[in-house]
Amino acid sequence: MTEQVLEATEAMVVVMEERATESQIEQVVARLVEMGMDVHRSTGVTRTVLGAVGQGHPDKGILELLDGVHEVLRISEPYKLASRTFKPEGTVVSAGDARIGGDEVIVMAGPCSAESEPQVRAAAAAVRRAGAKILRGGAFKPRSSPYSFQGLGEEGLRLLRDAANAENLKLVTEVMDLSQIEVIDEYCDIFQVGARNMQNFTLLRELGHARKPVLVKRGISATIEEWLLSAEYVLSGGNNDVILCERGIRTFETATRNTFDISAIPVVKKLSHLPIVADPSHGAGRRDMVAPMARAAVAAGADGLIIEVHCDPDHALSDGAQSMYPAQFDRLMAELRIIAPAIGRSICLEPVTRRGWGS
Ligand code: PEP
Ligand code: MN
Repeated sequence: MTEQVLEATEAMVVVMEERATESQIEQVVARLVEMGMDVHRSTGVTRTVLGAVGQGHPDKGILELLDGVHEVLRISEPYKLASRTFKPEGTVVSAGDARIGGDEVIVMAGPCSAESEPQVRAAAAAVRRAGAKILRGGAFKPRSSPYSFQGLGEEGLRLLRDAANAENLKLVTEVMDLSQIEVIDEYCDIFQVGARNMQNFTLLRELGHARKPVLVKRGISATIEEWLLSAEYVLSGGNNDVILCERGIRTFETATRNTFDISAIPVVKKLSHLPIVADPSHGAGRRDMVAPMARAAVAAGADGLIIEVHCDPDHALSDGAQSMYPAQFDRLMAELRIIAPAIGRSICLEPVTRRGWGS
């Protein structure tokens, strides 16, 4: 794939102080021209406003420090390929027959981590029966403590792939490091970049050359703009198949593991053409709060969900407290079958076994 070279237009407005002198205005104009911008000057009764448009890369911070400058407003977004302006119609990312960003709300579900063959098989069968199309599960786990379970590595990938194949599901799994890309590529359908790696720019750049979709989770303390700039790294490497994932951010609130930012869903929809899925499991951190957050995310316009499900969550090796029991997940899917059509979306209509598709 080729790197995308984008001659994007930047737009900026520089508002001068009321008492700015002619020589200060001229100096600002000169700096903007030096930065590659065309400048349009409007002189009002009290102030001069400079509109700058061009292919340059003006530095807002430097302009703000120039004498006589009152305020600098950036009009264009710093991300280009990820921006809705670049592709107003929206992007659909395909993994097999799962189309993320289309009419259908796609559900990805499975355990936090692959632990054993029976555990992965049971979870995969349960989520497929309920209507999930994509199996989630980690083999390389980014744990806050080095003493926590770190994942089964390649053996975990094999278990996940076999279970996905047996259930006719696609597989999303996390890549933590450049050195893992090659081996994970042999097993996965979608690469997951975790919250802790959202600003691992070398990893994102390399995934820009991958030929599979990349799900980019929002960093624990990332702004939406920073998150979209991370997606931009993958897109600018030539990989157009990027899915964003809201998974909660760290705030001052301690009642939940993270604060699940539902407002990020409509904000991203407005700013970007990329599909967005929601991870209420990491957002809430407690299984009793996953369903309400999942329902809200779908109602807010999420293109999909990624949910942790475990058949024996109380003995899970990671994230047991936020992993749903299969019966809870079944109930949630039934509720989503009411919510999705109410907002003009579809979702896998019935539990798969009864409908008989896919195998
Ligand atoms: C996960 O999906 O299990 C995970 C570690 O997620 P996050 O990167 O959002 O914490
Ligand atoms: Mn997890």
